[in-house]
Amino acid sequence: MGASPTTTRTKDRWVTFGSLVAMVLGAILGEWIHRNGGSANGFALAGEMLLVRPLLLLVVPLILLSVIGGAASLGATGRLGLLGGATLAFFISTMAIAAALGALLVSWVAPGAGIDPAAAAALKAAPAALPAAATSGEVGSLQDAWRSILYQVVPKNVFGEMVAARPLGLITFSILIGLGLSAIGDAGRTALEVIEGLNQALMRAIGWVLWVLPIGVLALVTSTVARAGFEALSGSLGSYMLVVIGGLLIHALVVLPLMMGLLGGGNPYAFLWKVRRALVTAFSTSSSSATLPVTMEACESAGCSRRATRFVCPLGSTLNMDGTALYEAVAVVFLCQLFGIALGGAELAVVVVTATLAAVGAAGIPSAGLVTMVLVVQAVNASLGNDPARSLPIEAIGIIIGVDRILDMVRTMVNVQGDMIGARLLTRLAPD
Ligand code: ASP
Repeated sequence: MGASPTTTRTKDRWVTFGSLVAMVLGAILGEWIHRNGGSANGFALAGEMLLVRPLLLLVVPLILLSVIGGAASLGATGRLGLLGGATLAFFISTMAIAAALGALLVSWVAPGAGIDPAAAAALKAAPAALPAAATSGEVGSLQDAWRSILYQVVPKNVFGEMVAARPLGLITFSILIGLGLSAIGDAGRTALEVIEGLNQALMRAIGWVLWVLPIGVLALVTSTVARAGFEALSGSLGSYMLVVIGGLLIHALVVLPLMMGLLGGGNPYAFLWKVRRALVTAFSTSSSSATLPVTMEACESAGCSRRATRFVCPLGSTLNMDGTALYEAVAVVFLCQLFGIALGGAELAVVVVTATLAAVGAAGIPSAGLVTMVLVVQAVNASLGNDPARSLPIEAIGIIIGVDRILDMVRTMVNVQGDMIGARLLTRLAPD
């Protein structure tokens, strides 16, 4: 039994207008709490319980079931290889464009060179401590990061990957099972029907979670703004933040729509409006992984094929991060400017390439981009000959930690937007 059209319409209105009002109200309330030195812990807990945890609860089964179903139906058409290649090409090219846009913009505006010397000295004097993963050697070198990604793509134990909620191995496993099911023909029919039924049930459950989206958004935006405060925008890091946000907006509202229009994906702005609930969820949770259930639900109802959605969105939520690539490029060049390290064309090219790779390596969780930025810093230092006089200390990343949460919200929204535009475009290769 499906939801009645009236219920669907009521829910749509409530989710759309409720979430938009919640974002504004959350920003005002959060700023008020910040200025009065209050605590927003209650809001953080409410947001986690109402939105983040229920969505995360659905993510692992959703990846397994949707990719098995998607791979089985693609396997039957023989187009899995084509779709896989096109998907990866789309991901890498859009991320590289985003990183190049970020590097150009930050070099042109030079926010790190314009800071008052006293404020710059204060920033350099007391960087915040980096997250443990950035300093414990977990990120390691670029080679280590690649090996880790490869190991995740082909894990030894699929249950271990489920427990750790690492999507890449789950996707590989699911593709194998899906292809197996399509290869055995009639013998696999019952299993596929069960999987399809479970997929539909999951989508319905995601629809229920959406009823609380506005309340979850209010709670999460309030708690984030209460912690960070908008004063950062006018502080010494303000122009850096504006370059990141400006770059993200150009990528989201000009570059990606242009690609979508040119590659025959239809009206990009109408599409963005249709998938707005996924954008709002990404903004408030700062996590592409937690947003994945809403991303897929929104793509399917905005006219993307089930096949493309089930293949592109799970992969995109972990690999495709345009916003993160742009952000990492801007942040590293900004820090170099602050430390008076001049970067030439070759070093900027290194920034663009490693920011793209570091974004691929970032998990779809809050602040992941901040951690993998270590890779970009290491690569830039190596390209400068590891000369101690012209090296950016890894601890310098601590300077921008305080303003990371707000930027994380915006870049996660762009990350998810990229995945959805990918699903829309690849629908042409994999229609239902
Ligand atoms: N929070 C981002 C995401 O989940 C990753 C990042 O930190 O850039 O997409």
